[in-house]
Amino acid sequence: MKTRSPDEFLQTIHTLAVKIGRRVRLMEVCGTHTTAIARAGLRSTLPESIELVSGPGCPVCVTAQREIERMLLLARRSNVIICTFGDMIRVPGVDSSLEQERSRGADIRVVYSPDDAMHIAEEKTEKEIVFLAVGFETTAPGIAATVLEAVEKKIKNFSLFVSHKLITPAMEAVLHGGASIDGFITPGHVSVVLGSNEFTPLAEKFTIPCVATGFEPSDVLEGIAMLLEAIAEKRCGSFIQYVRAVKPDGNPRAREILFRVYEITDAEWRGLGIIPQSGLRLKKEFSSLDAIERFSLPQIPPVELSDCLCGDVLKGNIHPNECPLFGQACTPRTPVGPCMVSSEGACAARYKYGG
Ligand code: SF4
Repeated sequence: MKTRSPDEFLQTIHTLAVKIGRRVRLMEVCGTHTTAIARAGLRSTLPESIELVSGPGCPVCVTAQREIERMLLLARRSNVIICTFGDMIRVPGVDSSLEQERSRGADIRVVYSPDDAMHIAEEKTEKEIVFLAVGFETTAPGIAATVLEAVEKKIKNFSLFVSHKLITPAMEAVLHGGASIDGFITPGHVSVVLGSNEFTPLAEKFTIPCVATGFEPSDVLEGIAMLLEAIAEKRCGSFIQYVRAVKPDGNPRAREILFRVYEITDAEWRGLGIIPQSGLRLKKEFSSLDAIERFSLPQIPPVELSDCLCGDVLKGNIHPNECPLFGQACTPRTPVGPCMVSSEGACAARYKYGG
């Protein structure tokens, strides 16, 4: 199948759709896939019976609103410099955002890596530098490596606001929540770290196929064809389309660094609530780098953005254009929720590319 053209994959998909003879819903759980599918206009090329839905794969989008509010509390401290990846800065809080806090004088900087944040800490020793550690198993190993370096260099004014998430428990939560999903396009980057075997227990438990898929349009089409083949043949399991990068057992070195620094804990997700064992926290020996402890950040009551349906988008219950605010009150220039802010958000991708 590897040497076939996108047109040939499409032909296979259309043939399999007829053979299956019912509606099939496939979910991608990776923001890069969400964008790649929308940018290439793949939805419009598929048979009507094959529906692609976006799941909880955009790290900024899945960050719980309570976490956003606590980041804002931190940003208001006069001795703190917040360092963050770009998209987080525009995520709306209940009555502010990091961008708004910056316009009011808070020192909030967009960085391209956790190393950049650590270097700011080395330069600005009179300030406390807090890096917003958001992301899945893809970004967490690199951030863990920075933690180890900061400890080795004895940098005292550097800490992390940890809000990492693990993708597999969220996929299970989506299925437990009742979403009708026939197969998962599993995230290529996360699969590079975890390996395709990570998804085997979930595939077997729910008797569905999962395919670790690359990001080119032909990769995605091949991944969809592989999922449909498995569905047509009533096969479940975790398979690899992205063979040039993903191995069954992933990258043991990256996982070793990840779990040297972090341990698994319960985590709160936007739209999905608290999912057991679905997040990461710093191990006790690194707790001095935990910004929540260092700054005694209070727990705050559950909050939601009124009228925003990001939670339903992330669970695959609705498509972005089914939200009444989509393209009206909510656009990339005036985002009401994080799914319209992030470049990997389902609402932003649908607004930008249509489909
Ligand atoms: S369109 Fe805007 S308000 Fe609606 S779900 Fe998406 S981000 Fe939220």
